[in-house]
Formats: sequence, structure tokens, C-alpha cells
Amino acid sequence: MDHNRLFIPGPTEVRPEILEAQTQWMIGHRSPECAELIAGIQNKIRKVFYTEKRVLICASSGTGLQEAAIRNCSDSKILNCVNGAFAERWHKVTLANGKNCELLEVDWGQPILPDLVTKRIRGGGFDAVTIVHNETSTGVTSPIREIAQAIRDMPGGKEIMILVDSVSGLAGARVEVDAWDMDVVLTSSQKAFALPAGLAFCSVSDRAMDKARSVSSRGYYFDFLELDKYLLRNQTPSTPPISLLFALDRQLTDMLAEGMEQRFARHLAMRDKTIAWARGRGFNMFAAPGYESPTVSCISSKPTIDVSELIAFLRSRKMIISDGYGPTKGKNFRIAHMGDTSLAEMDELFGVLDAFLSGLD
Ligand SMILES: *Cc1c(COP(=O)(O)O)cnc(C)c1O
Repeated sequence: MDHNRLFIPGPTEVRPEILEAQTQWMIGHRSPECAELIAGIQNKIRKVFYTEKRVLICASSGTGLQEAAIRNCSDSKILNCVNGAFAERWHKVTLANGKNCELLEVDWGQPILPDLVTKRIRGGGFDAVTIVHNETSTGVTSPIREIAQAIRDMPGGKEIMILVDSVSGLAGARVEVDAWDMDVVLTSSQKAFALPAGLAFCSVSDRAMDKARSVSSRGYYFDFLELDKYLLRNQTPSTPPISLLFALDRQLTDMLAEGMEQRFARHLAMRDKTIAWARGRGFNMFAAPGYESPTVSCISSKPTIDVSELIAFLRSRKMIISDGYGPTKGKNFRIAHMGDTSLAEMDELFGVLDAFLSGLD
């Protein structure tokens, strides 16, 4: 158990039982045992996504599915909403794939809001919009439910593909794919799922499947039609990381045993505790008030604190937190409260943070 504990927004801590689940003997990926494993995973993962539709499972990280979503779901123009580094990455992915797109940008620390999106979409000829649910670089959660509702209420809004990156949100922050009418919601294994890195998941609506049928050049590896065709037989087109599937199966069972509602409540409680700790020590949150993420807190540092020293002090106590992302390095620090982390573990972290702060007095 002696290891550096991760309080970073991915990869997150993985419980020993989950690590252990990966050590099972290999099975053939076309065997009945593997089909049974994938069928079981599919039943459970749909509950986590709150969808009755398909959840595709890929051997990749989340970025791969950012590419998949824009390749499969647009053949005219994409609106990339950008409020931080990961949303910016999706814009770069869109450009790199030669897709026609426009940028809707707000300041880091701000959410993407419904009015802004609908104003921009109106008459713009867009068939898809990309939004990051939980911007990990800034600790901001955007109101994707309200954004989707506003888009659906527009004339022609029911044909627009709503593509959501919830890599650091889903399974920690509430996302209800069917009820909120989302077309693609993508995530990775190494964040709020608290699994090793290497798997990515995305829900795909029937509307998005229909769209994909009409889009040419969907690519090969991430073609939704192929992935769905194989999923109907409880298979994947190419060899899946079978050890990771064992871990996923076990983790889904444990997540549903905790209960999704309880899981969301635990994340909110950890978030609130982190905000209370930060404010109590005279720090401000980087996120606009009311949009603070349930899974990662981005805290604005103070001139009296050297963020790299703070991080080094924690590391000497075998706890790892993150610096500010990119241009905010040294100005912010980020604490993840994500996955299977408990309130008691957060208290331990705050204890060490306080020891560092009191050493400065
Ligand atoms: C981590 C992260 C990504 C990138 O995911 P990978 O699994 O590393 O490819 C994308 N979006 C968000 C919001 C993230 O937090």
C-alpha cells in the first residue's frame, strides 16, 4: 500500500481489488467467455451513462473518441465551444481532421452558457457542436443539460449533433444521456471511473447512428457503424485490452453497488469540502461561482505561495496534486476528488496542506 497517492485529475487512484482483477488468465476475444464479459459490461455501463442505447468501448484514451465523434457526426460544419485546454484540444482535433468548423471561445474559468451557444448556432449552418462538460484545466462544469435543451428548442435544433466530452465528469458528476438528449458523450477509464488508463467509452444516440450512415470518411478504427455492428454480437472489431475489460467489469459492479446517486453525492460533498478548505485559508476558486466542478477543484494560489514548493511538500508525504494547467502553471493548483476517493482521504490531504501552510508563517 506504500505508494504515491494520486489526487490529480487523471490518472486517479485505482483500488487494489481492481488492479487484481486485471491478473486473470487471458481469454480469446472471439470466445463465448469474452462475449459474456462484454454483454455484462454493456448492461452495467448503460446504467452509468443513464442510457438504454449503445455504449461503445474502445482501446484508446478519451482523445481518440474526440476524434471519433467529429469524424462520425458531421459533414457540414462543427461549432467547437472552447473554455479551456481540453475543449481547445477538441478544436485542434477537428482542424486536424480537415473538418469545417468555427470556434466559440470564452475566458478560462468561465462556463459555456446556453444563450451563447444558441445565438452562435442560429443561421450558422452547423450540424454539430462540441462541448466539454467538465473542463479539467480550469475546474469548471458547464450546464450541458440546459445547453442541450436550448439547442433542441431551436428551429432545426433536433437535427444538430450534441457532442459532449465528459472525460473527467462522467461517473462522478451527473450525466443523464437519454433524458438530456445527448448524441455522443465520451469519457476515459482513468478519471472518474477510477480504472487504469487505456479504455475509452462513448454513448451514441440513434440520431447519431443515422447521421454516421450519411457521413463519408468516418475513418476505420473509430467507425461507429462497425463498432456498433460488433457490439450487437458482444464483440469489438479488433482485439480489446482484455485485462482492462476484467477491471472494468469489476469496477462497474462496485460502482452500481455504491449507487450512482450516492456516488454523485460523495463527489459533491468532496467538492464542497475542498471549497470550504480553500476559502477558509484565504484562497479563491478559479471557476466562476456556481460552476465549480464536482470532480476537480482549481484553486487560485496566492503571491506568498510557491506552487512548486507546495507540490513538492505533498510529494514528500506521498501525495500528488497538480499544478495549474498550461498558462496557469504556478498561478493555480488543482486537487482532484474523483473516482473512489473518500472524504476521509480528502481530510488527510487537507491536513498535509495545512502543515505546509503553517510552515510558511
Ligand atoms: C483528460 C481529459 C481529456 C483527454 O483524455 P485522454 O484520456 O488523456 O485522451 C479530454 N478531455 C478532458 C475534459 C479531460 O479531462
